[in-house]
Amino acid sequence: MAGGWWLVAGGWWLVAGGWWLVATGYSLCPMTRSPFVIPIGDLLRDRAEPRDVDVEASVDWHVELSAVLPEPPLTAALTLSPMPGGLLVRGSVSGVARHSCHRCLEDYDEPFSVSVAELFVRPDDATEDDYTIDGDQLDLEPLLRDDVLLAMPMLPTCADCGELVDTSQTDLNTDVPEAGDSRSPFAVLKDLFEPGQ
Ligand SMILES: [Zn+2]
Repeated sequence: MAGGWWLVAGGWWLVAGGWWLVATGYSLCPMTRSPFVIPIGDLLRDRAEPRDVDVEASVDWHVELSAVLPEPPLTAALTLSPMPGGLLVRGSVSGVARHSCHRCLEDYDEPFSVSVAELFVRPDDATEDDYTIDGDQLDLEPLLRDDVLLAMPMLPTCADCGELVDTSQTDLNTDVPEAGDSRSPFAVLKDLFEPGQ
């Protein structure tokens, strides 16, 4: 009966439509699942030229009091350059982070841009600290995530709270307030361990 064939045909269209959706979901890079995974077979050949790579992705990276917002998406503008020891990745990665102020706990958003420069090496040459080339692919996510999260402030401070302290000479991340003051715990410790000095 004709109706039955239409039903069958419609079913195939649904199946085909599903595969089409799956296929277009990965259309930017058909052989990979992550926007951070870059095919680099061309760069591993002899006399390969450096190649620019742009990456755009919504990420869910966070650390302590800071998180990278999924919108606007993270963007990275990188150059991949073949080197004798591997592949040099250089450029910058930008996005917007939401921080929780460590003084008042209010959230505030702040754009960031982080420089990236790292050599990816072949697994045979790698130590455990190295980023590695995976066959003819490069997964940029571990590097970019590490660099972005390392750049997040350890003690995020909102603009209002920042006005309450004199920040002109002080890096809130590293400087110990009143380090030269005799009342500081470090000065007290120094006296304890170095009597008479
Ligand atoms: Zn605050």
